[in-house]
Amino acid sequence: MQILKKKVSPQVYNDWLKPTFELSQEGNLLRVKVPNDRFRDHIQKHYMPLIEDALQKNELQHLTIDFVAERPIQLTLPQLDEKKEERLHLNARYSFDHFVVGASNQFAHAAAKAVATNLSRAYNPLFIYGGSGLGKTHLLHAIGLEAYHSNPSIKLLYLSAEEFTNEFIRALRLEKTVAFRDKYRTLDLLLIDDIHQLAGKSSTQEEFFHTFNALYENQKQIVLASDLLPREIPGVRERLHSRFQGGLIADIQPPDVETKVAILHKKAGMENASVPDDVAWFIASRVKSNIRNLEGCLLRMLAMSSLMGKTVNIALAKEVLRPLINTEDRVITPALIQETVAQYYQLKVEELKSKNNSKPIVRPRQVAMYLCKKLTDSSLPEIGKNFGGKHHSTVIHSINRVEDSLKHDPILQNEINTLIETIKTT
Ligand code: ADP
Ligand code: MG
Repeated sequence: MQILKKKVSPQVYNDWLKPTFELSQEGNLLRVKVPNDRFRDHIQKHYMPLIEDALQKNELQHLTIDFVAERPIQLTLPQLDEKKEERLHLNARYSFDHFVVGASNQFAHAAAKAVATNLSRAYNPLFIYGGSGLGKTHLLHAIGLEAYHSNPSIKLLYLSAEEFTNEFIRALRLEKTVAFRDKYRTLDLLLIDDIHQLAGKSSTQEEFFHTFNALYENQKQIVLASDLLPREIPGVRERLHSRFQGGLIADIQPPDVETKVAILHKKAGMENASVPDDVAWFIASRVKSNIRNLEGCLLRMLAMSSLMGKTVNIALAKEVLRPLINTEDRVITPALIQETVAQYYQLKVEELKSKNNSKPIVRPRQVAMYLCKKLTDSSLPEIGKNFGGKHHSTVIHSINRVEDSLKHDPILQNEINTLIETIKTT
C-alpha cells in the first residue's frame, strides 16, 4: 500500500488505503486486512487497477491479493457526534427578509420561496446555480429558516457537499452506514451547499448520489446550490440529470446597479446605519464584482465613519473606498497570473497554454489555474478557455492536484505564497 501512496490523493490514501495492512504471505497469496466488507468492496471496485499496476511496476505481478475483512472492535470506535449533527447550522441573517430581490435573482428567489412554503410539493430537487458571492448560500439558509419558523419540529439539515461526503466516508469506515442513511432518510429537508465540490471526486460521488436517490424516493425535499450547472460537474451521472430535470434549476445572475443599491441600503439597515442614496450609487457603480465584496466595502466605510465620527457622504466614500476601488480597477486577470507564474518558473506564457504535458510545464500550469480560481472571479470554463481552450474538468483536476499537494508540501506552499504576493502587488 505504501507504493500506492504517491499515486492517489492524500485523502483517498488516508481514507481507503492506510486502514489496510498486510497480514501474511503464503506463496503467491498476499493477505491484506481491511476493516469490513464494504471497505473491501470499495477498494476492489475503485482501486484494483491501481494496485495491480503498482504490483507490476514492482515486479510483484505473480502475487494475488486476498482481502480479509476484520470487524473492528466496537468499543474502540469513536462515536458520531450526535449533538453536532442535530444543530441546524443556519445563520439568522440569511433570511428571506434580508434578501433583496432584483431582476438578476428574482427567479431563484421565487423558487426558493415556493419550496420553503411547500416542502416536497413545489419542486424537488431545487438546484440553485450561479457565480460566487451572488447569494446562493443566503437562499439556502433562507429556505431553512422559513421552513423552521413555520414548523419548529421540522427535521432539517444544512451542510456543504464536502461535509456530507466526509461524513459518509466516516460512516462507511466505522460501519455506521445504516445510522447515516437513517439519519438522512428521516429528514424533511436537506440543504446541500457547493455541490460542485464533488467534481472530480468520483469515488465518493457515487455514494453521495445513492443517498440522494434514497431521499428523493422518500419524497424528502432536497435543495442544492452550485457554482456549476449539473451537466458541467464532471462525473454527474446521466440518470441524475433526469432527476434534476424533474425538479427545477434556477440561476442567479450578477446584480444590476439598482439591486446593488438596494442591497447596500438593506445591509446598512441591518447595522443600524443608513447610507444616502448618492453614496450607495457611488459605491454600487464602482464595485463591479460580487455582492460579498460590495458588502465588504460598505462595512469598511461604516466602520471608518463611526471611528472618525464623520457623516457618510460621497467625500467619505471616496476617501475610504479609494484604495479598494483602485484595486477593483486594477483587477487581477488570468493574463496577469499567467505572466507572473511563467516568469517565476522561467517558462513562456504560451507554454502554460499549450498542450505540452511534460513535467516542468504541467505543475506550473496547474499552479496558474489554481491561482486563477483563487484570485479571480473567473468560472472554471473561463479558466479553461484562458489556457488554450482546455475543458473545465481539466481545470478542476489541476486545482484538486494543487490543493492536495498543498496539504503536505511546504515548498509548494512557499511558492504559492510568493506568487500571490507578487500578483497582488504588481
Ligand atoms: P454564494 O453562496 O452565491 O457564493 P452568498 O450567499 O454567500 O453567495 O452571498 C454573499 C454575500 O452577499 C452574503 O453576505 C449575502 O447575504 C449577500 N447577498 C447576496 N445576494 C443578496 C441579496 N439579493 N440581498 C441581500 N444580500 C445578498
Ligand atoms: Mg456559498
